[in-house]
Amino acid sequence: MDNAIFRFPKPINEPVKAYAPGSSDKQQLKQALAQVSSEEWDIPLIIGGKEIRTGNTGKVVMPHDHKHVLATYHKAGEKEVQMAIDAAMAAHKEWSELPWVERASVMLRVAELFATKYRYLLNASVMLGQSKNPYQAEIDAPCELIDFLRFSAFYAGQVYEDQPYSDTGILNRMEYRALEGFVFSLSPFNFTSIASNLNMAPAMMGNTTVWKPSTTAIHSNYLLMKVFREAGLPDGVVNFIPGQGSVVGKVVIKSPDLAGFHFTGSTSTFNTLWRQMGDNLENYKSYPKIVGETGGKNFVFVHPSAPALDVATAIVRGAFEYQGQKCSAASRAYIPASLWKDVKNYIGDMLKDIKMGDPQDFTNFVNAVIDEASFDNIMGYINYAKQATDAEVIFGGNGDKSVGYYVEPTVILTTNPKFKSMVEEIFGPVITIYIYDDNKYEETLELCDSTSSYALTGSIFARDRYAIQTAFEKLRYSAGNFYINDKPTGAVIGQQPFGGSRASGTNDKAGGPLNLIRWTNARTIKEALVPPTHYGYPFLGEK
Ligand code: NAD
Repeated sequence: MDNAIFRFPKPINEPVKAYAPGSSDKQQLKQALAQVSSEEWDIPLIIGGKEIRTGNTGKVVMPHDHKHVLATYHKAGEKEVQMAIDAAMAAHKEWSELPWVERASVMLRVAELFATKYRYLLNASVMLGQSKNPYQAEIDAPCELIDFLRFSAFYAGQVYEDQPYSDTGILNRMEYRALEGFVFSLSPFNFTSIASNLNMAPAMMGNTTVWKPSTTAIHSNYLLMKVFREAGLPDGVVNFIPGQGSVVGKVVIKSPDLAGFHFTGSTSTFNTLWRQMGDNLENYKSYPKIVGETGGKNFVFVHPSAPALDVATAIVRGAFEYQGQKCSAASRAYIPASLWKDVKNYIGDMLKDIKMGDPQDFTNFVNAVIDEASFDNIMGYINYAKQATDAEVIFGGNGDKSVGYYVEPTVILTTNPKFKSMVEEIFGPVITIYIYDDNKYEETLELCDSTSSYALTGSIFARDRYAIQTAFEKLRYSAGNFYINDKPTGAVIGQQPFGGSRASGTNDKAGGPLNLIRWTNARTIKEALVPPTHYGYPFLGEK
């Protein structure tokens, strides 16, 4: 087995189940929802394979019904964080020295368990714990999660296969070692697949991790951890320590063995952690590798040649699916005056149709936002727009947090292209629209490029091919994922490698070889086949 030169075939993406009326998938998902909502899980820390209960606990609730408790979880204190670092370091040698195909087989086993045995349970956990409708839950976890794992096994083979050329008489090799130390994985609430990948991509390349999950995604993240173990991930390779970010961060950042930081979340958190690492540089044994995918202010830019219905559909799906809580969500749009009336009417018609409520009712397209802080933040932006003289709320604008954290899909229209909600990430179901003069296409493209500090995703809508080309050039650095005649959300692993630059992150394209290679520390090995036996060179033979 160990001497096989093994290549995994290129995977195909995990098929997305539709959960259509009357389907057996829907029936099984409904059963899993009933099970999860009737239980109250007790979630421990898992360090070095051992469950640890600190007694310092918090509650996991449903965002759409916040009196309903799904779980009690234990929080790590400084002592447990140090234990997790020690466990990751203890597991490092054996895991990093295991042949990579053995590690890949663990990844594939996790993928298979989520594709089969745990598919509905995972979906139910995400739907109830993170308030996603069945389709949103399905494309995140299991589908993207499975894709991350299968594609990692495939791309890891490509990384290892890339070897230097050997000249005559020499044998050159490259050993892609794991980093010398542990990786700190800090995950966001909005994608369970990302939480998995922040650990499993480094683990694929032989690293061990200390993982602090998001407090508002602990239910599904704990299920991940349990399935990692069931699949045979050895003790200590991933150490699960829920808790307060600042408490965990403080101990982890000070550790001399911190070798990598794998982050997805907001730009401000990333900046805080990077700064803390900078202050600790002298203490580290090696420079930590930093990969962070952060916020976005993603645009839909429309040329007068675009079909209004396509644009309206992209805006409604792009801005309001999962309540706009996707890093890639459309949150600003530039529409030519000649198209605005039609686009507005189509958006209005769709919003009249859309229902908001509990994800257990499959007729609801929109569910709740994640928690009270998020609700208050989003409503703050909406109320700001209501009071502004250069903006108005034209659709939605109401919120109610009495039962769940519900915010209506909201459209703000502004005459000021630098209006606050055209510039800042809101992370909720809110899009701001700026109408431009049809004759000012190029100037408005320049405005789009310079308005926000982010550069994650963006779309251009046009039939005119020259207009598309102009946008392509003017917006070269405005988005790491650029869409033509499509909404700016829904990137698929292996098809549209995902990530942005500027304030949107380090753009290491999660789920692909660019990301995997960051978790390696290459050693070059040169061997002389017949070593020279004299120090001299031919030029020395004559004056
Ligand atoms: P967040 O930054 O609030 O939290 C991310 C993680 O960091 C959480 O686990 C949190 O507990 C922890 N944290 C927060 N402050 C900390 C501190 N001071 N020290 C240590 N840990 C700390 O982000 P979120 O609200 O969970 O997620 C939403 C954000 O993530 C949005 O900005 C979104 O754009 C971004 N996001 C980006 C991508 C991408 O690929 N670019 C994908 C998903 C989400």
